[in-house]
Amino acid sequence: MSILVQDITKQFGDFLAVDRVSLTVESGSLVALLGPSGSGKSTLLRIMAGLEKSDHGQIWIENEDATYRSVQERQIGFVFQHYALFKHLTVRNNIAFGLNIRKASKSLVKQKVDELLDLIQLRGLGDRYPSQLSGGQRQRVALARSLAAQPKTLLLDEPFGALDAKVRKELRTWLRQLHEQVHVTTIFVTHDQEEAMEVADRVVIMNNGRVEQIGTPAEIYDNPTSEFVMRFIGE
Ligand code: ADP
Ligand code: MG
Repeated sequence: MSILVQDITKQFGDFLAVDRVSLTVESGSLVALLGPSGSGKSTLLRIMAGLEKSDHGQIWIENEDATYRSVQERQIGFVFQHYALFKHLTVRNNIAFGLNIRKASKSLVKQKVDELLDLIQLRGLGDRYPSQLSGGQRQRVALARSLAAQPKTLLLDEPFGALDAKVRKELRTWLRQLHEQVHVTTIFVTHDQEEAMEVADRVVIMNNGRVEQIGTPAEIYDNPTSEFVMRFIGE
């Protein structure tokens, strides 16, 4: 599902958090929204999701104006930095919660959950509770729960932000592999340039609420268009 962000602006009081941002996300691609803390990434993502209203501009999803559509109508799945799993539910039931087929037979639910457990490579852990999982495992379950709803778009806001460096690196590779299997249009926010450059098909670099550069990792490395980008990716 392609997404077109057109001239989106968002102000909080006197502060311009998102400043006339336009970009296109191609269907089935994995795009990183990269920038330092406070650059407007999360605000833009929330506007794309329909969780926040923009002051100006439009969001188009698959050639239809989605600017005034609800979160549900946009068919978007989310994963945020802090685990949002239900503590009192097992891994299986957390994932089953995301399914749109709760009225379906138990065996169909089991089959779907098994497929998702395989996809996140946690087959043996379905009966555990979130407290019995590592941070990385919890984020995988959160992703499976989002995917269970068969979203057309997946928005991930610093999904690995709370994890230590080693696990982050593993999950980077894993996210790339997962994307190649499911091909859901995915936008993920990160302030980690290495993570963005390694995982994404295209990278959108933000600073002070504006888009500084958009391109493939190679294009950005070969031809940074500003002093800021050069410094930021050089870190
Ligand atoms: P990022 O995700 O890139 O770190 P954010 O989009 O969260 O940036 O925030 C961009 C700026 O907007 C920050 O300076 C933040 O303090 C401000 N901001 C975000 N949300 C609000 C809000 N609800 N009210 C006031 N200021 C906000
Ligand atoms: Mg943020």
